[in-house]
Amino acid sequence: MKIGVCGLGIIGSVWAGNLRQDGHDVRGWNRSPKQFPWYVPRASDAANDAEIIFIVVADPPAVQNVLNQILPGLHAGQVVIQSSTISPKATLASARQVQQTGAAFLEAPFTGSKPAAERRQTVFYIGGDKRLLEQVRPVLERLATSALYIGPLGSASALKLAMNINIALVAQGLCESLAFARAAGIPDDAYFAALKPNVSHSGLATLKEPKLRAREFSPQFSLKHMAKDLRLALDAAADLPLSQTRQVMQTYEAGLKRGWGDQDFSVLAELLEQKP
Ligand code: NAP
Repeated sequence: MKIGVCGLGIIGSVWAGNLRQDGHDVRGWNRSPKQFPWYVPRASDAANDAEIIFIVVADPPAVQNVLNQILPGLHAGQVVIQSSTISPKATLASARQVQQTGAAFLEAPFTGSKPAAERRQTVFYIGGDKRLLEQVRPVLERLATSALYIGPLGSASALKLAMNINIALVAQGLCESLAFARAAGIPDDAYFAALKPNVSHSGLATLKEPKLRAREFSPQFSLKHMAKDLRLALDAAADLPLSQTRQVMQTYEAGLKRGWGDQDFSVLAELLEQKP
């Protein structure tokens, strides 16, 4: 198939590579030029004639920027798969614009950071037309272990934000617990050996243990994007108190102030070891 990928960041570059390995005719575009054999200089070059167009960029303004560039060339028969984490409201606005061109729109936010994308173990959350999902499922399931149908457009974005609230709160608990143990002189070997059989051990602890032990915070999922997701969730939360999410947001704001936005979000462990 002809597939365009708009956004060649941590995830888009891996997906474009995997899709190319699968034998698809892939063209990828990124705001800042990239050195990939499939790189094209304009978003419209990636989108024109593509049967499927993935959008996987930072946030709602970035998605709008991509749309502004590709909308004039979109037409019936094409499917836009929007995988950036954005709000339900931004999803509906994006869908409207795409559908007005005759092209189809599916929301497909996902879970799984860089290592999962590399191992094709992403999990997609799908919102929109079920028949459209079945049409593109063979492509999605080559990138992922599964594509879970959630409900109408907007529901998958809401679910994705809900998942990231959970991850951020679990990460905060893990990092505060580790900071406490380290301050008490407990070696990391002992801490993680005790954590593994503990009921609170999580998939997040498995994923982040090597980074936390080595204090190595190259990004799998960046602090700035987790901060963005918490902000989107709080904006969308309307009347819900979400008191812990508001509290944790302050840790992320402090990390951003230190200029740590591009580091892995597990870098917050370093913040939590310091006295305010
Ligand atoms: P990333 O490495 O930071 O890449 C962000 C991409 O967005 C880059 O291609 C960047 O282009 C582009 N971008 C930013 N602002 C833009 C704008 N105004 N116009 C056009 N393009 C713009 O991010 P990522 O980790 O691949 O994540 C991409 C999306 O997936 C985000 O919404 C993130 O929340 C979500 N997500 C990520 C993970 C993960 O673990 N990494 C997991 C689940 C969901 P430049 O290179 O020019 O800056």
